[in-house]
Amino acid sequence: MEAAKLEWAYSWLQNSKGIYINGEFIASSDGQTIESINPATGEKLGTFFKASSEDVDKAVVSARKAFDPSGPWRTMSRKDRARVLHQIADAIRRHQAELSTLESLDNGKLYSESWNDDLIETADIFDYYAGWTDKFYGETSPVEGLALNYTVREPVGVCGLIVPWNYPILMAAWKMGPALSMGNTVILKPSEITSFSAIRLFEILHEEVDIPQGVINLVLGGGDVGGFLSNHMQIDKLAFTGSTAVGKKLVHSSADSNLKMLSLELGGKSPNIIFDDVPNLNFAIERSFYGLFTQKGEKCSAPTRLFVHRSHYDRVVSGLADLANSYVLGDPFDPITNQGPQSSQAQMDKIMRYIGYGIDEGAKLVAGGKRDTSGSNANGYFVRPTIFADVDNKMKIAQDEIFGPVLPVIPFTEEEDAIRMANDTTYGLAAGLWTKDISRAHRVASKLEAGMIFINKYGFYDFAAPFGGFKQSGWGKEYAIHSLESYTKLKSIWVNF
Ligand code: NAD
Repeated sequence: MEAAKLEWAYSWLQNSKGIYINGEFIASSDGQTIESINPATGEKLGTFFKASSEDVDKAVVSARKAFDPSGPWRTMSRKDRARVLHQIADAIRRHQAELSTLESLDNGKLYSESWNDDLIETADIFDYYAGWTDKFYGETSPVEGLALNYTVREPVGVCGLIVPWNYPILMAAWKMGPALSMGNTVILKPSEITSFSAIRLFEILHEEVDIPQGVINLVLGGGDVGGFLSNHMQIDKLAFTGSTAVGKKLVHSSADSNLKMLSLELGGKSPNIIFDDVPNLNFAIERSFYGLFTQKGEKCSAPTRLFVHRSHYDRVVSGLADLANSYVLGDPFDPITNQGPQSSQAQMDKIMRYIGYGIDEGAKLVAGGKRDTSGSNANGYFVRPTIFADVDNKMKIAQDEIFGPVLPVIPFTEEEDAIRMANDTTYGLAAGLWTKDISRAHRVASKLEAGMIFINKYGFYDFAAPFGGFKQSGWGKEYAIHSLESYTKLKSIWVNF
């Protein structure tokens, strides 16, 4: 079974893959290609065509035409649009093994992570947003006098969707689901590091889903191709997930081009506070560990700064070190593996640099701190899960987003100190806290400057609840009704009596 999936993937990867514009896969206009690397081996995985600015223009023309008010997408009933979204979900489920295999080959995450964490949700989110096509109401406004004012929600138009390499297909689905549900047309640009799951997804949708030509388009390439989208005068909205640095560039591009709407899901350095009255210390240690170290620490909302009350500090540090030391690194398709390779050499190098900063700044290394080059890992991008104790919140490893398997642990005694240090960051994506005291739980939750607070279990994710950050972790929300707000424009209509 495993061998068959891999055999299928390697055979599929033989040919250079095209971009998808106006219902067909094509080579780029200038013939440029990009090579993708398998991070577990350092070897070439496959190639795909890199979109030129001319290709991006063509994708925009195609998406604009599909958005035409008299075209097949805008005139389709909401019920039929919902059917298309359900078809997408079903098609993803039919091809879950292929898509999970490509994701693990390209990104390095475990096959079980691709299957359970990424692909199940990727399909489910299209079903969830299928249900919303006819449920996002306007309002009747309580205006004075003899007049009626009502509001309607209209699609924004052509949406550019730019996503990162850590959850390649899932981040695409987080954006395609609500965008299509509200009647927009889209141009997706995956990361140049992990494009294959999106390419295969588009092939599947092309073959198996009744989606009108031009409604979905795929352009491939790196930051320059993202720039063609963000500077384009005919793109109405850009939905971005990625680093804060690039998010800031997109704000400039929007201002310098057509003031396109932006939603930005950016970086994080999320605090996780274990108080002296933690309800179940072992559970807190495990969740704090797995919350970060699954998916090899390449998770934006992971608990990447652990604050521990001094009364539990030694036990927490040794519990984390034991878990880290027991981790098996290796082939993402081997069921005994706990952690795959980092997604790219550049990412591994960055993580190793930060481990060096931690050591230089005087943090105490209690686990990991090195690459894993044992056996067949020799040429892959493997980094041992790393725990630093006695960290000062001012150190670089406590302030910068490392985006890898590195956890700084910081002791505290007073509640106010924990809150102050937790908030002493430019980010504000998520925060966790562990306490039996219900008053403290709500008091601390209200003081933490983060868009998502997890009490007594770090990491709840559900389409029904908003996902997104404060401060430099971004603008706008994913999931739930809140995501739909960013894929619609609110029109106010007046009637004189
Ligand atoms: P990145 O910002 O380098 O790249 C993200 C995407 O933007 C890629 O597709 C890339 O090609 C493109 N891009 C790069 N430069 C661009 C430019 N100048 N103009 C337009 N597009 C450009 O991020 P990454 O390294 O791929 O991903 C890791 C980052 O993503 C981390 O900071 C992580 O926290 C963040 N992230 C956030 C969330 C969230 O929901 N908040 C989720 C996942 C990842």
